[in-house]
Amino acid sequence: MNCAVCGREDPEKWNIKNRKYRYCPACGFIQLAPEHFPERQAEKTRYLQHTNTAADSRYVAYLQDFLTSSFYPYVPGSSTVLDFGCGPEPVLAGILQHEGFSVDCYDPFFAPGLSWKTKTYDAVTAVEVFEHLQNPAGELEAITAVVHDNGYILLRTMLHTEKKDAFSSWWYREDSTHVSFFSERTIRTLAVPFGLSIISIKNRCEIVLKKQPRS
Ligand SMILES: [Zn+2]
Repeated sequence: MNCAVCGREDPEKWNIKNRKYRYCPACGFIQLAPEHFPERQAEKTRYLQHTNTAADSRYVAYLQDFLTSSFYPYVPGSSTVLDFGCGPEPVLAGILQHEGFSVDCYDPFFAPGLSWKTKTYDAVTAVEVFEHLQNPAGELEAITAVVHDNGYILLRTMLHTEKKDAFSSWWYREDSTHVSFFSERTIRTLAVPFGLSIISIKNRCEIVLKKQPRS
């Protein structure tokens, strides 16, 4: 099995508490072995257990912190936005619409329409999404295809430090629906083939990418 991000052959095998992972020394990507990927229905059930609603003031504050830190400084008001992986309730979209942004939502479980693929956007957000993706490079390619030149892709996913001991005891690893884990090196490796430049990586979780025009 090759690394799903950079294609390097035969990533290192990490066995942690009855779960198998592959760590790629070339790009730092860690992926859960496919035999442990969640069943689709179990995955949906797990997402429905999240209490990420507009009525949850802590969740709303968490999203506001992300927007203030890594969205509003880059994306001008009234921009068009796609929220990729919006979850059962589009809370982020609601906040942004209230602020004057024009927002579409996509989620394979909860908003599966694909009309976004025929449109283009000033920005795409994916908040706590990439750790769930079995093919993050393929999804990033699809997202990049619908972003205008000089537009932004804004991700929130927790980055690891490539240290096996720390990874082993990391709570983020233990969520049964988290299958892909990135380090800063992985983000840099992912960005290159799609012409994305890294504008900012903050708080080990907030990633701002900008689509450069193809010359
Ligand atoms: Zn790799």
